[in-house]
Amino acid sequence: MGVAGKDSSEQEESINLFETTLMKEAMGSISEKAEKLLHNQLEVWQLAQTNYRNLSTVRSKEFDFGNFKVRVQFNPGRIQSSAAKVDAKSISERKCFLCPANLPKEQEGIDIDNKYQILVNPFPIFPEHFTIPAYDHTDQLILDRYEDMLTLSQLLDRYSLFYNGPKCGASAPDHMHFQAGIKGFMPIEHDVENVGKRELVQLEDLTVYALDNYLRNSFLICSQDKDKSVRFFSELYHALEIRAGEPEPMMNIIAWYGNGMFHTVVLPREQHRPACFFACGGDNILISPASVDLGGVFITPQEKDFEKITAKDIENILKEVCVSDVKFETIIESLMIR
Ligand SMILES: [Zn+2]
Repeated sequence: MGVAGKDSSEQEESINLFETTLMKEAMGSISEKAEKLLHNQLEVWQLAQTNYRNLSTVRSKEFDFGNFKVRVQFNPGRIQSSAAKVDAKSISERKCFLCPANLPKEQEGIDIDNKYQILVNPFPIFPEHFTIPAYDHTDQLILDRYEDMLTLSQLLDRYSLFYNGPKCGASAPDHMHFQAGIKGFMPIEHDVENVGKRELVQLEDLTVYALDNYLRNSFLICSQDKDKSVRFFSELYHALEIRAGEPEPMMNIIAWYGNGMFHTVVLPREQHRPACFFACGGDNILISPASVDLGGVFITPQEKDFEKITAKDIENILKEVCVSDVKFETIIESLMIR
């Protein structure tokens, strides 16, 4: 630990992402280190301590949609993230909060192969919540990083990893990062077993499903073989639309590893923010959906929204920000042709 700045000499903690023998040893131990890091940081870092303590007072309610549920949480600590300005001008005018040089003085990290570091997220949603930025200040782009995401999900097998695209909830679209939250918090990890799904691909070591009965049209990729997941992800990526002026297809990704299997849910996006985010007066709901919301936990940083949000609002928001049924079928068709 203690490697929040890149110059640290504690190289013995460095894990080579691509050494499988090391990987076997590292699995579990990195989860353990992360848990320890959080514990240690809470002792010395006032802001993190206050914000994690406040999590215990977060109000929560649940909506039942039949074979899955969506939880809504009133979490005022998330206002900065939900209302974050992520246009190019605002981004260029602020100091990047994920660059090693700008991290808070209390912040420590766990180095991963000199490429990423695991940091405690001081504005938590999960009772254990980490941000995993690359050291380099480089754009948030997934195609060449998805393999790393799977590797990290294996290293951090107590946690689910998630990726918010630059226009899909990332509050630092200019600095590559993943996040990780303790497993068991996002309903999606279990929902994928219970909701209706359509098998698209069934090969040895790779199964892909369309989740088309889940209010959010999405893909579930399951494989014991990381390379096969990576290959399929690349095909899916290329079947998605990249809009003019945007660097990659809009998407959120949630990935976790368990029982020898890599699980990934890819949620292609239609919109960054729903109409209610921009609405005036009584119609306004300040919600800016990202992976955690699409994972089944809606975060409302304002109490008024927590009070008034209905099952219909949740349905509308999910349908608005995810791709339509028609577009989803087009993506599937294009995948099948490839
Ligand atoms: Zn940066």
